[in-house]
Amino acid sequence: MSCLFCKIIAGEIPASKVYEDDQLIAFNDINPQAPMHVLVVPKRHVATLNDLSASDDGLVGAMVRRAAALAKEKSFDGPGYRTVFNCNGQAGQTVFHLHLHVLGGRTMTWPPG
Ligand code: AMP
Ligand code: ZN
Repeated sequence: MSCLFCKIIAGEIPASKVYEDDQLIAFNDINPQAPMHVLVVPKRHVATLNDLSASDDGLVGAMVRRAAALAKEKSFDGPGYRTVFNCNGQAGQTVFHLHLHVLGGRTMTWPPG
């Protein structure tokens, strides 16, 4: 298995875990871009957003709702936070296992870089 996030899910590489259930794991990003920077990751290996199908709608919904719950735990629901899926090269995806970035605790700029 060569996928970094699959290795984290398998417990072969340590991560700073903030949430886990049967289908998702969430952990702190190793190179945080905001005071809160968590990655919400499905346990099943899915490479990119392009690889999802209708049968994954429940999984994606769970990821998005977990992102909102984790932001709310840190009281960023009111001030605001950002969620990002990077897909493939031009978006800057570097780990090809689907993940939702959750960033909070500072003012974000738009457009993103
Ligand atoms: P992306 O560029 O959207 O593919 O995001 C990949 C993210 O994974 C980056 O923000 C990295 O900082 C993060 N990352 C890489 N290796 C690790 C690791 N071992 N533990 C936690 N986060 C990681
Ligand atoms: Zn994987």
